Amino acid sequence: MDFHDTPEEEAFRSELRAWLGEHGDVTVPDDPAARADAQNAWHQELHRAGYIGLSFPTEIGGKGRSPIYDAILNEELGRAGTPPTEGIGHLTNALALFGTEEQRRDLLPGLMSGQVRWCQGFSEPEAGSDLAGLRTRAVEDEVDGESVFRVTGRKIWTSFGAVADWCFLLCRTDADAGKHAGLSVLLVPMSTPGVQVRPIVNAARNKEFSEVVFDDAVVPVANLLGERGQGWAIANQLLAYERGPSDINWISRLLVQLRRLESDVREGVIPDTPTTRARLGQVYAELRALQVTVQRSLSKRVRGVLPGPEGSVDKLLMARADQTFGHAVMDLSPGETLRTEGLDWDLYVWSRAATIYGGTAQIQRTIVAQRVLGLPRR
Ligand SMILES: Cc1cc2nc3c(=O)[nH]c(=O)nc-3n(C[C@H](O)[C@H](O)[C@H](O)COP(=O)(O)OP(=O)(O)OC[C@H]3O[C@@H](n4cnc5c(N)ncnc54)[C@H](O)[C@@H]3O)c2cc1C
Repeated sequence: MDFHDTPEEEAFRSELRAWLGEHGDVTVPDDPAARADAQNAWHQELHRAGYIGLSFPTEIGGKGRSPIYDAILNEELGRAGTPPTEGIGHLTNALALFGTEEQRRDLLPGLMSGQVRWCQGFSEPEAGSDLAGLRTRAVEDEVDGESVFRVTGRKIWTSFGAVADWCFLLCRTDADAGKHAGLSVLLVPMSTPGVQVRPIVNAARNKEFSEVVFDDAVVPVANLLGERGQGWAIANQLLAYERGPSDINWISRLLVQLRRLESDVREGVIPDTPTTRARLGQVYAELRALQVTVQRSLSKRVRGVLPGPEGSVDKLLMARADQTFGHAVMDLSPGETLRTEGLDWDLYVWSRAATIYGGTAQIQRTIVAQRVLGLPRR
């Protein structure tokens, strides 16, 4: 592995830094309710400037560059302290890989520009880790001569459900097929009659999550993504794509915050004790280990290897580094700066979710054991 920029990458990085110098005076708002919209507005601005979809194929409106360019973008945004881009990589890849020509043409431009927003309807009250046990059903019918699915069920913890225009819905289209074989993906407009969104306020004080209820919502069969029964394969491919360049953004953000803690120590805001040094050292070591692991995964992607179960290793290290950092901030900050509201507190609370979202740490360890290391199931 070579961690240095090539001359072309270096040129891109300096051009991006110059652009951020002019346009990047955008910070994550302290008001939790404003964060999703601020992130979306920033995503749209980056899209107008040509920075979204750097590594997506040109046929779908991307720039056809190596994933390294997305990593550079994410790293620089983290360093500049702007909001991150919206996490569209996994949905874009799923639509590009499994979508029909019409679906790609109609849906990809809005997804990439941020003008059309999406949510992911996978988890249910009785199906989280055991995702294949989901019960939301889609039954085929005919309405006014058109083939449709009638969708009924409940999704929960749907991020951005309240602001989304479309839902990437994993549902059961065949009740008699096996647990995994009966699943399909439907692309559902959130404005469909029978779709109801009930926002949930989380511990970081925002309504990022929702419960989404489908009550006999009628969805054209043309909105099926891929084949009927291909839902499990699509969901797995999509989850593997959730990792990657966007992790770089988080690492870069945490490294900036670590520098802030270090300067608090230098300025005497945090006492300079052996314990402080050991805690900061631990955070740094975990972040560097994560950075190198993510760079290794990226190198594979650059060589054209599709992301696979190894992404679970990145996810585990990511969650650990994030939580180690959060604990260090809470433990080292003196009483008056330890806040129970505001961005720092929200970031700390958010780090607690890192071992849950995108598949819990226990499930990731099982994936690593069985699918990466090939250990026996019993
Ligand atoms: C911030 C955040 C954002 C999210 N966004 C979305 C989203 O946009 N869309 C979406 O569909 N979902 C989303 N989720 C839901 C997330 O995917 C689920 O919470 C997660 O998969 C766990 O499912 P669960 O909550 O039902 O917990 P459960 O599956 O009930 O697990 C409870 C506990 O039991 C453990 N456990 C369960 N099964 C096993 C097993 N076989 N072996 C060992 N331990 C096990 C788990 O590790 C966990 O500790 C989000 C969650 C969070 C926290």
